[in-house]
Amino acid sequence: MTVPPAAGSPSAAELLADAAHALGEHLRMHQALGTRALPLTRAPLPEPAEALARLEAAIAGCTRCKLSQGRTTIVFGSGDPGARLLIIGEGPGEEEDRQGKPFVGRAGQLLTKMLESVGVTRDEVYICNIVKCRPPGNRNPEPDEIAACAPFLAGQLEGVAPGVICALGTFAAQHVLRTREPISRLRGQLHPLGAAVVIPMYHPAYLLRNPGPTYRRQAYDDLKLIRREYDRVRGRGP
Ligand code: URA
Repeated sequence: MTVPPAAGSPSAAELLADAAHALGEHLRMHQALGTRALPLTRAPLPEPAEALARLEAAIAGCTRCKLSQGRTTIVFGSGDPGARLLIIGEGPGEEEDRQGKPFVGRAGQLLTKMLESVGVTRDEVYICNIVKCRPPGNRNPEPDEIAACAPFLAGQLEGVAPGVICALGTFAAQHVLRTREPISRLRGQLHPLGAAVVIPMYHPAYLLRNPGPTYRRQAYDDLKLIRREYDRVRGRGP
């Protein structure tokens, strides 16, 4: 497999813009958690499991966007809170909405197989979505819905602090990388994000709709890239 070099090093202005954006997300996450004042002293960071439990409690009964009207369950996320690999999908489908867990329907079964093809189990990763409530009829999430849920995803990223983030599909990739580039241009590359790298790849639902060797080969190349980076961040690289 040939892996294109990482996207060019970010400029100082881009780094500053990223830091300002991260700070904004952090403050919005605290606002969503109900924090009204932040102490100026350095409070110890909560353990990942505790950070996620606090977030999940804060999102309970959420009515921040119109998706709340049609949902059965808020699908917060699942997996290992201390995972080094975090996977972001788009939003819950019918089965996820019923069970309250991400990626348990057909796309989820394919995701499980895809991970297993490179020796990764679902138990060792953390899986969540950009929106936590099911868009009606499985339509795409809308910008206001993504924005309403963004503090919770930011909190999950901050709490888990993964080394590798796999963004599944256009919406997740464009949201975390703050770009309008299509997934076909984003996939196959490493994109630095703070201390982590983002690896976008096709969404399993897209692969189910588009069977055939081309997308399957590209998906497998991306999975191998994920595996390589996952090994690297765990100190198991070559
Ligand atoms: N598709 C997603 O993006 N997320 C899920 O949880 C299920 C299907």
